[in-house]
Amino acid sequence: MKITDAQLKQIYTHAKETYPYECCGFLLGTFDDGGLVREVRPATNLNQERTDRFEFDGKESLQVQSEADDAGLDIIGIYHSHPDWPPIPSQTDMDSAFVNMYFLIVSVHQSMPLNTNIWRLADEGMRRFEGVALEIVDQAELNRDPS
Ligand SMILES: [Zn+2]
Repeated sequence: MKITDAQLKQIYTHAKETYPYECCGFLLGTFDDGGLVREVRPATNLNQERTDRFEFDGKESLQVQSEADDAGLDIIGIYHSHPDWPPIPSQTDMDSAFVNMYFLIVSVHQSMPLNTNIWRLADEGMRRFEGVALEIVDQAELNRDPS
């Protein structure tokens, strides 16, 4: 998956803001370009009871999906943070994952984002995640038309 430094910082800022709760959001882009993120969309985490859960707002998700459609983009992934926990998918993450979608998890320790991992379901039947390499790309990549 490819992302710019500025987009990654946007996610880190969001993760800091919501600490000690998880942040969550959408990664809009194109699968054809090797999973190029063209836009980061912070979302509302409806779950404010536990610090190890996130729950998207259905209405907000539909809105983002419709805006992505209009822009000729896909929701290629979602991101969320793990406050004081490694960036490894939980059982809950496993259960909520979709095939093909990138799953970005940022680990936050005492409100400081530490490291990021990208995951993708290896196959739906097994419900098993595999790590995906994260490539930091130049801003200029985003100026090319979606293929
Ligand atoms: Zn998680």
